Amino acid sequence: MNNNKLNYLVLHCTATPEGRPVTKDEIIRWHTNPVHLGGRGWNRPGYSDLVELDGDLVSIIPFNTDDFVDQWEISNGVVGLNGNARHIVYAGGMDTENKKPKDTRTKEQLATLEVYVKYTIKRHPKILVLGHNEAPNAHGKACPSFNVGEWLRSIGVAEANIYHKPAVEENKTTVAEATVETNSTEAEA
Ligand SMILES: [Zn+2]
Repeated sequence: MNNNKLNYLVLHCTATPEGRPVTKDEIIRWHTNPVHLGGRGWNRPGYSDLVELDGDLVSIIPFNTDDFVDQWEISNGVVGLNGNARHIVYAGGMDTENKKPKDTRTKEQLATLEVYVKYTIKRHPKILVLGHNEAPNAHGKACPSFNVGEWLRSIGVAEANIYHKPAVEENKTTVAEATVETNSTEAEA
């Protein structure tokens, strides 16, 4: 059994104010700059792909098309899931005052995310799609600031590809732990 199977697609937001552009370079700086320079000091960024405000899809960490998460493909999105997941982020997720989580996805971002999720499922028919806030180690985060299950149903994603959070014993989930970081760039819910 391979323990680096790609089992999950996790959706994130950058937890930045509505309408504020976010670039790939910014994300890389936030996550990989040393702590004394204001970064997280991680060895890798937290996301594989970024959906910009205008819907453009930008690659942060390249990956191939097989069903495994190779070492070089890992993104540090959620501690405990990274060895088995791909993480995608959209720019936004907070209101304009940067106070409250908000679903700020533009119609262009919505269109890109829909294509992205559906393509990923075509490529990996058994993959489960979830929001960061549904992950076992989400620690109360609001990320990605919308109900992922509801949105997936609204765009016609099959129930078999929608992650359902275990009602009990969620902390007993054992997954390959490839990294030790948590993604704490998001605002706390
Ligand atoms: Zn997140």
